[in-house]
Amino acid sequence: MIASNELIVFLAQTDKEERERTREVIMSRTLNPTLQQRLFFDSLMNGIYFVDRKRNITYWNPAAEQISGWQADDVVGKNCKDDILVHSLGGHKLCREHCPLLAAIKQGENLEPATFSVHLRHKDGYRVPVRVRCIPVLDEDEKVVGAAEIFEYAYVKEEVQREINKMGRVAYSDALTNIPNRLHMENALNDWLCAYYDDKPHLAVVMADIDFFKNVNDEYGHNTGDLVLKNVAAILQQNLRTLDIVGRWGGEEFLILLQNIKPEQLGKRLESLRTCIENSQVEDGGKTVKVTMSFGCTIPRDGDTVLSLVERADALLYKSKNEGRNRVSVEAIQ
Ligand code: GH3
Ligand code: MG
Ligand code: MG
Repeated sequence: MIASNELIVFLAQTDKEERERTREVIMSRTLNPTLQQRLFFDSLMNGIYFVDRKRNITYWNPAAEQISGWQADDVVGKNCKDDILVHSLGGHKLCREHCPLLAAIKQGENLEPATFSVHLRHKDGYRVPVRVRCIPVLDEDEKVVGAAEIFEYAYVKEEVQREINKMGRVAYSDALTNIPNRLHMENALNDWLCAYYDDKPHLAVVMADIDFFKNVNDEYGHNTGDLVLKNVAAILQQNLRTLDIVGRWGGEEFLILLQNIKPEQLGKRLESLRTCIENSQVEDGGKTVKVTMSFGCTIPRDGDTVLSLVERADALLYKSKNEGRNRVSVEAIQ
């Protein structure tokens, strides 16, 4: 079995001869890790897994779980060609004839160390670019008992994550105001509703709409209208607690989800948001623009769906509009 320091040396070495010597040491071990070795493999940032001669997976470390999405329990005992990682190069699957693990098992100590850039299939189905290196594993009699594969993201992990975040931002955030968009809010509301049915936390759903916004566009122009929208979004976001979410539902309408708030505190909380908007203003080319906002707030009850909640919050918003705007209507507590 490979000892921790040896593996580190092996991974770090670039000189061919040095790698050869280290590989010899590595290959003179068996497949069953000692507790110390296991602790080491569990803490590696590279994915690593071991297979026996038949390519049945015998060990799978947490980094392999993280990169591939497959948990050790999903894969240990399975055969690595059982459509798990499905390594591919240029769209061609390697598992049957060109498996680098198989090459390591077949060639044993004669294996030339090599790194492959391939794609593996994440448990969720998408392809992940990885760099892969395989080594044979020998027992004490220098008989090949299996192989190990070490793999890592081909791109720096943070870069990939940044890319995913960027894509997420495009899909789930509103381009003008930079706050969550309607799609995000629908998902969030759905999650909140599930949480409500699970353990009935205190939640509230608020629909808020800028008053007479059409007049702002008509009087100051669409660009100033956009600035007002951005400003309102920023005020709402800055004045909510971390657990609360505000998103742009459409046009000049915003959906707010409040969490951990007792029904009797809702009026006060929303009044404070309303006055924040009322007391703010946008300066644009010497013009000062002020707007107000109307709010409708409801709390979930049994039998609610996303639609019924939004409709009730909407009805309360229109109550505020009908009663003169720039006000808050909270559903009467039953
Ligand atoms: P109410 O108090 O009844 O809500 O009146 P309102 O004028 O705010 O409502 P109405 O629905 O009549 O008009 C909404 C306006 O919001 C019309 C539309 O042009 C404007 N609007 C919607 N989206 C945007 C946007 O992205 N930018 C700008 N500048 N205006 C927008
Ligand atoms: Mg409006
Ligand atoms: Mg509106």
